[in-house]
Amino acid sequence: MTVALTGSMLIGADDVRGSAGEVRGVNPATGEALEPSYGLGDPADVDRAVALAWQAFPAYRATSLKSRSAFMTTVADNIDALGDTLVDRVVAETGIPGPRVRGELARTCNQLRLFASVVADGRWLGARLDTPDPDRTPLPKPDLRQRKVPLGPVAVFSASNFPLAFSVAGGDTASALAAGAPVVVKAHSAHPGTSELVGRAIQAAVAEHGLPEGTFSLLFGDGRTLGTALVKHPRIAAVGFTGSRSGGLALVAASASRPVPIPVYAEMSSVNPVILLPGVLAESGAALGTEFVTSLTTSAGQLCTNPGLVFALGDADDFITAAGAAVAAAPGAAMLNTNIQQSYVDGVDRLAGAAGVTEVAEGAVDATIRACGQARLFATDGDTFLADHALQDEVFGAASLVVRVADLAQLERILDTLDGQLTATVHAAGSDQETAAALLPRLELLAGRVLFGGWPTGVEVGHAVVHGGPFPATSNPATTSVGTLAIERWLRPVSYQNVPDALLPDELREDNPLGVPRLRDGTAE
Ligand code: NAP
Repeated sequence: MTVALTGSMLIGADDVRGSAGEVRGVNPATGEALEPSYGLGDPADVDRAVALAWQAFPAYRATSLKSRSAFMTTVADNIDALGDTLVDRVVAETGIPGPRVRGELARTCNQLRLFASVVADGRWLGARLDTPDPDRTPLPKPDLRQRKVPLGPVAVFSASNFPLAFSVAGGDTASALAAGAPVVVKAHSAHPGTSELVGRAIQAAVAEHGLPEGTFSLLFGDGRTLGTALVKHPRIAAVGFTGSRSGGLALVAASASRPVPIPVYAEMSSVNPVILLPGVLAESGAALGTEFVTSLTTSAGQLCTNPGLVFALGDADDFITAAGAAVAAAPGAAMLNTNIQQSYVDGVDRLAGAAGVTEVAEGAVDATIRACGQARLFATDGDTFLADHALQDEVFGAASLVVRVADLAQLERILDTLDGQLTATVHAAGSDQETAAALLPRLELLAGRVLFGGWPTGVEVGHAVVHGGPFPATSNPATTSVGTLAIERWLRPVSYQNVPDALLPDELREDNPLGVPRLRDGTAE
C-alpha cells in the first residue's frame, strides 16, 4: 500500500502541522535526511489532543467488549496492510535490517490481536461478587461487587529501539486501548515517518468503527517541552515510557510535581546478568561463548534485554576465548541514530578506561555506515567489580563485561549489590543444580524474568511473560510492559455496594449477560 507522508501530527481526526520547529528522519546508515520534515507541536497542541481524549473517554470506555475487540483487530489489519511501505520506512529511519523489521511488524500486529482477544474474554474486568447476608450479626453483610475501570487518558512515549512493537501501536498503546483508555502518543523523533504511517492506521480504524476522534492522537515534539506538558496535563491519568534512565526519571519527577501525581510506567535500564556455573563452563564453555555473542550483537546490541554482564564461576578461559573470537569476527552494524551511537562510544570508553578492566576483543568497524556500532568485550574479576558500582551501568549497544568470580560467596555478594534487572539468566549443568537452586531466591528478587539456559534477548508476548523488574529496570516493579498482564497498568478496581441490579454494569449483574469469568465468594462461577 502506498501512503503519502505529510509531516503532520494527528490530533483526533485532524492533520495539524506543528509550528515549534521541525525534525526529519535520518538514515543512520547513510546520514541522508528523509522527506518530509515533521512540524513539532507545542503545549497548545497537547491541550487540544488531551481535551479530545478526555471527551472521548466516556464513550470509548463504554464500548462493548465485542466492538472494542473488533476495533483493535482492525488496527492490526490496517498496520499489516501497510506491508512494504512500512517496512521500507522503518529500515530507512532506523537501520534495522528488513528481516528483523518484518518480524517486529508481525509481533506488533499479533500483540494487537492478542489484546483484542483479551478484551473479548472479559477476564481483565476482574469481576468479583460477595454474596450478601442481611441476617448476619452483629451487622448485616452488604452486597459487594467489584470490577476494574480504566484510569483515564494515557500518554505513551515511543521507544527508539522497537519502532513498531514499543512505539505508536506498541504494547503500551495496545494495552491501554484494550483497557478502555484513549491514548495520546508522543512519537520518538528518530522515526517520525514510521510513526505517521502507524498513526494513520490507528486513526483510520477509529473512524471505521465510529469511535470518538479523541480515542487516539499522535504528537511530534521535544520531550522536555511537549513531553513534559503531556505528563503534566491534568486530564492525563497515566504514562507509559521506554527509553533512557534519565528520560524515565524526568517523567517520574514531572508526575510527582503535579497537583495530582499519576502513575508513570517507565522501562529504563537493565544489564541482564548471565551467570555461568562451574559445571556448564567445563562442559560447554566454548559453545556458550559463541552463542552469547550472537545474543550480544543482535540488533547491534540495542535491546533492553541485551546481556551486558556475565558472571563466570569456574574456569572461564574457554568461554572468554570463544566469545572473544566471535566478537572479533562481528561486522560493524548500523546503530539507530548518531545520538545513541555517541552514548554507546562514551559508555564503552568508560568501561575501557576503568581500573582493573581489560579489553578482550573488538569487532569490525564499517566505514561505509554513518552511525556504525562496533562490538566490544571486556573482562574483569569479582573484587574489581565489587569495588566499582559504575561497572554495572547500562552501555546500550553490543558491549559486555565478563566477570571472573572467585567463589560462590563472592557471587552471592555480587548479586546482592546488583541493581534491579529485566532479566537474570543461569546456565547450569547437571552438577550445578544445587548451586542453581540456591541462587534462585536471590534472582527472583533481582529481576522480572529468570531464565535457566538460553539468552535474555527475545521476549515472548504472552500471558505469563514479565518484561519489568525492580528499579532501574522500571519505575514500578509491580507490573510488566509486555504481555497481557500489561493491561493492569491502566486499570483500577471499584466496588459497588448494595447497588440495585438494574443499575450495575453488565459484568456485575446477577445473570452475567456478558458471560464474563467471575469470582463469587472467592470461587470461579
Ligand atoms: P530517550 O532519550 O530516553 O528518549 C525517549 C523519549 O523520551 C523521547 O521521546 C524523548 O524525547 C523523551 N525524553 C527524553 N528525555 C526527556 C526528558 N528529560 N523529559 C521529557 N521527555 C524526555 O531514549 P532514546 O532516544 O530511545 O535512547 C537514548 C538512550 O536510552 C540509549 O542510548 C539507551 O541508553 C537508552 N535506551 C534504553 C532502552 C531500554 O529498553 N532499556 C531502550 C531505548 C533506549 P525527545 O524527542 O526530545 O528525544
